[in-house]
Amino acid sequence: MADARESLVDGNLLAARAFARAGVDHMFGVVGIPVTSFANCSVSEGIRFIAFHNEQSAGYAASAYGYLTGKPGVLLTVSGPGCVHGLAGLSNAMINTWPMVLVSGSSDQADAGKGDFQELDQLAAVKPFAKCAVKATDIRKIPELVSTVVNSCVAGRPGGCYLDLPTDVLHQTLPYGEAADLLEAVQPFVPAWADGDPSGGRTAVSEDKIEAAVAALRGAQRPLVVFGKGAAYARAEKGLRDFVEITGIPFLPTPMGKGLIPDTHPLAATAARSLAIGQADVVLVVGARLNWLLHFGEPPRWSPEVKFILVDVSEEEIELRRPHVGIVGDARLVMEAMVREVKDDPFCLGRSHPWVEKVRAKAEDNVKKMSAGLERVVVPFNFLTPMRIIRDAILSLGSPSPILVSEGANTMDVGRAVLVQTEPRTRLDAGTWGTMGVGLGYCIAAAVAEPKRLVVAVEGDSGFGFSGMEVETVVRYQLPVVVIVFNNGGVYGGDRRNPEDIKGPYKDDPAPTSFVPGAAYHTLMEAFGGKGYLVGTPEELQFALNESFSARRPALINVTIDPYAGAESGRMQHKN
Ligand code: ADP
Ligand code: MG
Repeated sequence: MADARESLVDGNLLAARAFARAGVDHMFGVVGIPVTSFANCSVSEGIRFIAFHNEQSAGYAASAYGYLTGKPGVLLTVSGPGCVHGLAGLSNAMINTWPMVLVSGSSDQADAGKGDFQELDQLAAVKPFAKCAVKATDIRKIPELVSTVVNSCVAGRPGGCYLDLPTDVLHQTLPYGEAADLLEAVQPFVPAWADGDPSGGRTAVSEDKIEAAVAALRGAQRPLVVFGKGAAYARAEKGLRDFVEITGIPFLPTPMGKGLIPDTHPLAATAARSLAIGQADVVLVVGARLNWLLHFGEPPRWSPEVKFILVDVSEEEIELRRPHVGIVGDARLVMEAMVREVKDDPFCLGRSHPWVEKVRAKAEDNVKKMSAGLERVVVPFNFLTPMRIIRDAILSLGSPSPILVSEGANTMDVGRAVLVQTEPRTRLDAGTWGTMGVGLGYCIAAAVAEPKRLVVAVEGDSGFGFSGMEVETVVRYQLPVVVIVFNNGGVYGGDRRNPEDIKGPYKDDPAPTSFVPGAAYHTLMEAFGGKGYLVGTPEELQFALNESFSARRPALINVTIDPYAGAESGRMQHKN
């Protein structure tokens, strides 16, 4: 009997073996019918399965895992509603261009159209959010399709792919030998940062374009280097830093590009952002889209005469923006080529170059202005006072610096300006879509992706609320995550409405922006055995940070913020 059973492989085991063979080492998800056995088989094949409460958070985790490691982040869900909840993560991966695979169980193929348990045409549902979407209609197709999704999500511009595993296919069986033969077809994926990749979709770099780019920068009066999370994903930090240091060109990271070159570098133009983008004449943009975050590369924020040199792995992106020079290629390989090109005939602006001096003077001036606000101790807390204390506590940890997770309106805006990034890929925030609710999923992904680093989340109370129950997941896996909640009792804080403007039978309801004042978020962490702190003064915050950072165990610091500090919609008021 035992022999007969062992000689057969079912769809669950075959799929788990295929993912392991493809190089997948982590999965995130919520199990249930029909995928529980698949999750258990995956664990037996050496894959770590991180079980969440909600597919939305698990999906955000999978997408961030893909970004941080360059390995596909895999999200496993049940059929129907589970798959729909998974679209949050899949679409997040697509919009941020991060590699991810959504795997959903689906109902029995024989009962399609009859209203089966959790029935949905999942292939149709995922298509608008996926690079590729495939369904294993027979057990024999599983290995090849696992190989397809795992490899497509990292190829070229990374993104999300979908694999549908019907219940009947998971229950089909094959003789062991046939399964082993089929598994031979599975190709392990190659991450973008691997050397000598012949196939990973990274186009060979055009030498002519490299020459043209360096010539344009050499001839510029006010050159600038801008880099984003695509450059971070590509691990282009060494080339970027060498290029900036050889040429002396000031640089500006996007929010998640922060840390590729330390924020503290003398050529950082971060604190002189408006001046740098308003006056630059030739700009090298590496792994960052000229979308809303960069004001579309258009006037009035940018000069009408500015010339862009765009480096992006996506040809489509280059065609969309029509830059002065467009270089299709992997950011790391392109920056290595740029460094070689400039070394052949070096040029350097030098510290006394008028443009470099202008940017530096403006940055110093702005830093001075902000530090007055930062040094002032305001209690009840505004945003700046606790943010400065958190900044200093993070900096005092040295290397390896923690991974910072940030979301919220004012909390994220103030945090981006105040908190300092000194190492690559140490910032995860609301990203290209400004998605709120990513925080806890990102914390969990960061902790399992980079076990040597502490994870510190600095979030608004509304951002935290989307996925607060995942603190249980943090405790269950004993992850070194410290969640700091800026608690101002609402989305943007207190009720800012003029009472005379509100009419009708429900005018006395709480404002749509309000939560229960003084919510005890720290007790949510304590409910599962983690450590909770409620703080309202600098001394209390300092104590909580010291203790939780050195314990490296799950903790939540509930920071009471004046509900009327900050602004509605943070820095996006013109859109609300
Ligand atoms: P940010 O939000 O930091 O400005 P974006 O997400 O807008 O960054 O842009 C990232 C860009 O990086 C995308 O257009 C994507 O195609 C590109 N990209 C992704 N991987 C690579 C890579 N390996 N090399 C170069 N560009 C990449
Ligand atoms: Mg709030």
